[in-house]
Amino acid sequence: MDSPGVLMVVSGPSGSGKTSLCKALLEREPEARFSVSYTTRSKRAGEHEGKDYHFVDQPTFRRMIEQKQFAEWAEVYGQLYGTSAAWLRSQMDLGIDVILDIDYQGAYQVRDRLDDDSPVLVFVIPPSFEVLKERLASRGTETDARVRERLQTAEEELRHVYLYDYVVINDAFDRAVTDLAAILHAERNARARLLPRVRRSYGALIPSTPPPPPKRRG
Ligand code: 5GP
Repeated sequence: MDSPGVLMVVSGPSGSGKTSLCKALLEREPEARFSVSYTTRSKRAGEHEGKDYHFVDQPTFRRMIEQKQFAEWAEVYGQLYGTSAAWLRSQMDLGIDVILDIDYQGAYQVRDRLDDDSPVLVFVIPPSFEVLKERLASRGTETDARVRERLQTAEEELRHVYLYDYVVINDAFDRAVTDLAAILHAERNARARLLPRVRRSYGALIPSTPPPPPKRRG
């Protein structure tokens, strides 16, 4: 492995456009891979098993929890969602960049449990709560009760903005994709990530601990 891959978590309230943004990001960044979650919710029109999600029933998901097969998992809107620990580990070990589209509860678990992989946490939001409300209402696919439930969850998610390293405001789709790509690129160049490679290339020129800062003259 040349240098460790970037583990990028993308969260955001329903209506933030984060799933479309992640898809567009992966088109621009073909070397990165999307983590296909397991879920107990049923397949929506246009979704494919193994591409959007691995669709499983509740007993299977519960068994997977007991067998510690998830790097993180959470209940969202009454359904269970989780990230495969084995798949994630295999990609990290190969130095591949991985994008996780997961909710804030999962983001906390990734931050706490996968600390060694220095995950980068990105929060995607519409420009205002008014816009978020409009986007949810205009989807037309949800009942009023569902829209209310999503707004309540969105309020809860927004409170957790402090968890995240970056915020992407999705007011213009292409610019938001560029922002996400910029974060990925910046993380690829983080000193901590690249230091082992720099040391391999420069050998003894790079000390194993930082030297003291230069003395100020005058
Ligand atoms: P949807 O059912 O609309 O595809 O997703 C609902 C919510 O579940 C979204 O916020 C999505 O990011 C989140 N989600 C999807 N997969 C996972 C996962 O593996 N873990 C967690 N914690 N949340 C997930």
